Amino acid sequence: MTETGANPIREFKSRIPIADVVGEFVRLRKTGSNLMGLCPFHSERSPSFSVAINKGIYHCFGCQKSGDVISFVQEMQSVSFGEAVRILSGKFGVPIPPELAKKIGGARTPPGTPSRESLLDVYYKLNHFVARFYHQKLLAAEGTAARQYLADRGISGETIRKECLGFAPAEWGALCNFLTEKKAPLDKAEELGLIRRKNTDAQISAAAHATPAASADAGRSHYDLFRNRVIFPVLDPRGRVIAFGGRALGDDSGPKYLNSSESPVYKKGSHLFGLFHAQKDIRAENACIVVEGFMDCLSLQQAGVGNTVATLGTALTEKQVAGLKRLAKDILVVFDGDEAGIQAQSRAMETFLNEDVVVRGVTLPDEFDPDEFIREKGSDAFRALLSSAPYLLDQRILDLARSSGSQTEGKARALDQILPWLAKLSSETARLIRLDQLSGLFGIEVAILERRAKELRTQGARTKNPPVVSLGNNANPAILSEISDPTEMRFLELVLQHPELWGQGLGPASEAGSILEGIQSEKIRDLVLRILELAKAGNQPGAEILEWTENPKIRAILARGLVTADQEQGKESGTKGTGEKGEAQAALIREFKDLNLKLARRGKERRRDSLRAIILRADSSGQSTELARLMSEYNELVKSLERSS
Ligand SMILES: [Zn+2]
Repeated sequence: MTETGANPIREFKSRIPIADVVGEFVRLRKTGSNLMGLCPFHSERSPSFSVAINKGIYHCFGCQKSGDVISFVQEMQSVSFGEAVRILSGKFGVPIPPELAKKIGGARTPPGTPSRESLLDVYYKLNHFVARFYHQKLLAAEGTAARQYLADRGISGETIRKECLGFAPAEWGALCNFLTEKKAPLDKAEELGLIRRKNTDAQISAAAHATPAASADAGRSHYDLFRNRVIFPVLDPRGRVIAFGGRALGDDSGPKYLNSSESPVYKKGSHLFGLFHAQKDIRAENACIVVEGFMDCLSLQQAGVGNTVATLGTALTEKQVAGLKRLAKDILVVFDGDEAGIQAQSRAMETFLNEDVVVRGVTLPDEFDPDEFIREKGSDAFRALLSSAPYLLDQRILDLARSSGSQTEGKARALDQILPWLAKLSSETARLIRLDQLSGLFGIEVAILERRAKELRTQGARTKNPPVVSLGNNANPAILSEISDPTEMRFLELVLQHPELWGQGLGPASEAGSILEGIQSEKIRDLVLRILELAKAGNQPGAEILEWTENPKIRAILARGLVTADQEQGKESGTKGTGEKGEAQAALIREFKDLNLKLARRGKERRRDSLRAIILRADSSGQSTELARLMSEYNELVKSLERSS
C-alpha cells in the first residue's frame, strides 16, 4: 500500500464533524452506528440517506449519491472544492493546512475569473447594504409612523434590531439617491427588484404625477419599488439577505404586502421567512409551526415560540415542504381563523400530503390571526392550542363526513375527495386506520374503500417519482444495469463489507485465483485486491478508499459498502433483533458464496478458453512437454467445470 505520509485533505476533513455539517440540512436519526435521514439530493418518503460518522462519509441508498464533508457542502451550496473548504474552515474554526491552502489557492484558475459564489456575493452584499439603509430610516425621524405601527403590533425593539426591520420612505427616489451617492451598482439593484428603470414602465409617468416630489426626480433613471412601507428582510438559512417584504403604511399606495421579485439570489416558493432564526429551535423540538404572515411569524418567535416560519405571500410549495420535512417531524399549520385562512390551510394540508407528511393544524377562534391571538391571549394559551391540534387530514375527513349528508351523491362526492388523500399515504397502517374510520363514517365496507384507495395509489405511483430502494442487501437495479457488470460490482461491495468471506464456498484455496480471473474489470480486480490487502493487515477500510477511483459508479458502490458495513456493526452491538440479524447474516453469506462460485466459474471458463487457443497454436510447433502440461491443466479445468455445473 502506498498510503504513506499525512494527507492534508484527510487531516482537514477528520476535524470537521460531518453530523453537524449534514445536520444543518437534513434531520438525522441514529440507526446503529450511522445516522439516517431524508436525502437532500432526491425527493423521497422514507429515509435512505446514511451518514457514517466515524468514516466521515455519506451515501444515499436511493439515488446513490455519496461523498464526504467537502463534497456535501459543494453540492448543497453550489460552491467549488476550494470554497467548500474555506466555508468549513470558517465555520468550525479548523485552520486550512498550508499544503491544502496552496492547492485550493492554485485551483482558482484562470486568475481573475470570479467564482459563482463571489458573483452572487455582490447581490448578497447589496441586499445587506440596502437592509441597513432601510433600518436606519426606521430609526430616524421619518420612521416614526412605521415604528408606531410596529409598536402597535407589539414588536419589540429587540426584534426590530435582530431582524433588521426597516422603513422605506414615502419617496420615489430615496433608495435610488442613496445608491447613486454610494456608487452602488444600480443595474444589480435593478436585478434584485429593489429599483426599476423609469421609462420601461409606463405606470411611472402616471403615478409620478401623483407625487409632488416628481420634479425633483426628473433627472433620475430609476425609481424605488418599496415606498412608504415597513420592510422585512428575508434571510436564507445562512443568514444572508435574499429578498424583502414590504407592508404598506398608507392605504393609497398599492397592495398591502409587496415582495421582492425573483432575482439571482431569490427564487419564489423555495424560501421561508424566519427560517434563519427558527432552524435551531425547529431541530431541537423536532417540530415546526408554519404561519402565513411576517407579523405572525415575528410575534410568535418573540413570544417564545421560536420554531415558527412563514410562507412568503404565496401558497406553500412542495419545495418548501420538502425542506421542512427534512428539519422536523411534527409540522403544524396555523393560519387565520377566517374563511380564506381555513381554505389556505386545507390547500397546505394537500401540499404536505403530496410529500407524504400528515400535518396538524390549529384552528384559531373566528377572525383571529395568530399575531392577534398571541397578543390577546398570551403564549400559554397558544401553546395549549398547539398541543391539542388535530391532524388536519382527520379533521377534514370528519368535516366532509358531517357535511355530505345521508344521500348517496353527497357521500360519493365526499369520498372522491377523501380517497385520493388517503392513497397518498405511504404508511399502510396510517392508511388502513383511516379507511376503517371512513368505513364507519360512511357505512361502506372497508374492503371496497381499500380497493379504491389501492387503485388510486397505483395510478399515483405511475405518475409520481420512481420507488426508492430501501436499505438492506439490495442493489438498485436501475443503477446497476448502467454498470458494466452487476455481479462484479456487488462482489466488490461485499468484499468491502465482509473481507473475511473472501473465497467462501470454494473447494481448494487455490481456486481463489479463479475468482480474480473471473473479474473482467481490471479496476474492480485491483480494488478487490487492495481491500483484501488492507483486511489482511488488520485495517478497517475507511473513507480514504473513495480516493482510489475516479469512476462515480464505482465510488458509489464503495461508499455504500462502507456505510452498510458501519450500519451492520451498529446493529450487532445492539441487543434486540438477534434472530433477524442472524437471518440477514446467513443470507449475506449465501449470497457471497454464490458470487464466489459464479466468478470462479467465469475465471475457469476464461482460463479454459485461453488454454484452448494456446494448445491449438502449440500443436503445430511440437513443444511436447509444455503441451502436455497445458493439456492436463485444460482437462482439469473442463472436469472441474463439469463438476460444478
Ligand atoms: Zn438520494
